[in-house]
Amino acid sequence: MTSIDRTKPVMVTGATGYVAGRLVEKLLNEGLTVHAAVRNPDDKEKLKYLDTIAAKSKGTIKYFKADLLTPGSYNQAMKGCELVYHTASPFTVSVKDPQKDLVDPALKGTRNVLESVNDTTEVKRVVLTSSCVSIFGDTKDILSYPGKIATEDNWNTSSSLKHQPYGYSKVLAEKEAWKINRSQNRWDMVVINPSLVIGPGINPNGTSESFSIIKMLGDGSLKSGAPGFDFGLVDVRDVALAHYNAGFIPEANGRNIIAADHRTMLQLAETLSNKFGNKYKFPNKSVPKFMVWLMASTVGMKRKFISRNIPYPWVFDNSKSIQELGINYRSVDDSVVEFFQQIVDSGSIK
Ligand code: NAP
Repeated sequence: MTSIDRTKPVMVTGATGYVAGRLVEKLLNEGLTVHAAVRNPDDKEKLKYLDTIAAKSKGTIKYFKADLLTPGSYNQAMKGCELVYHTASPFTVSVKDPQKDLVDPALKGTRNVLESVNDTTEVKRVVLTSSCVSIFGDTKDILSYPGKIATEDNWNTSSSLKHQPYGYSKVLAEKEAWKINRSQNRWDMVVINPSLVIGPGINPNGTSESFSIIKMLGDGSLKSGAPGFDFGLVDVRDVALAHYNAGFIPEANGRNIIAADHRTMLQLAETLSNKFGNKYKFPNKSVPKFMVWLMASTVGMKRKFISRNIPYPWVFDNSKSIQELGINYRSVDDSVVEFFQQIVDSGSIK
């Protein structure tokens, strides 16, 4: 049981990110002082969204320069904080060098942040942003789990540097975080494991992979049909609330799957086309698995990925998040519509 003093500052790593933006907004609206650790505090263009929220809120934001790969660079931002949110980690699937671009920042970055936590005696709780990809790598994995359902007891054992390296980076980082947490007894840790996050961010030009996936539904990339992938989905504002509650509910603990529902790509496209009509190039049929498999390299996918993710559904248990973190999930259909509207308004789909 950990109780956090709300008069003390709260630190957020990767405060410029899509998920972190909504978390910082919530913290500021609750009147807290946020120590926002960012790579470049001089990037006024990127920080203007946080600044606008801060100006209208009861809270205060202070920026600190820090990089996941620079040892000790989070020390300054952490000073005086009882609660640390570690959200920073690259979320992208198109990388040249998975070790350097994904695993190093995720794993070394987590070590770096938690070493600073060990050195900062005020810290009582860390909330770590992991992912559902730390629970399973491919949706086919779920079939081998007890009850054929993904729960907080499961771990991704199928990802590697060559296959699903983003999932690999997240599972390595989360395991390392638990190892460091268990080697001491001053601070506790609550882990947030979101599915694919959707819904409007505070920055309409976000670079998180969430934007590319939803954009792809209407920009013509899938005009010949939607591959039969299924996604677990959750609104970014629910993910922010889960982080907030994980920080301040004294009994919050362990891993927490944060996912509202699941939809196939075609179902998402149908929801969007019901709302936006034929103004955008939504797919209106699915592509058979063997066709996706045959065309794999032309669409930049690996055959193993297709084999292990089509047509297996995301089946997960989100009851812990409802009962212990008090999340009352928004409709993912409303979230995808609002998100797509934001992407259109930003001018990135014609
Ligand atoms: P995002 O918008 O790309 O945010 C990533 C954040 O990490 C950015 O603030 C980025 O800073 C920071 N970062 C990356 N490399 C860094 C480095 N070397 N040093 C310092 N900061 C660095 O992505 P997101 O979707 O919000 O993801 C945030 C977290 O949520 C990640 O841990 C991700 O794995 C997790 N997550 C996301 C989803 C999803 O669907 N979006 C689902 C599950 C879990 P810059 O702004 O300077 O680049």
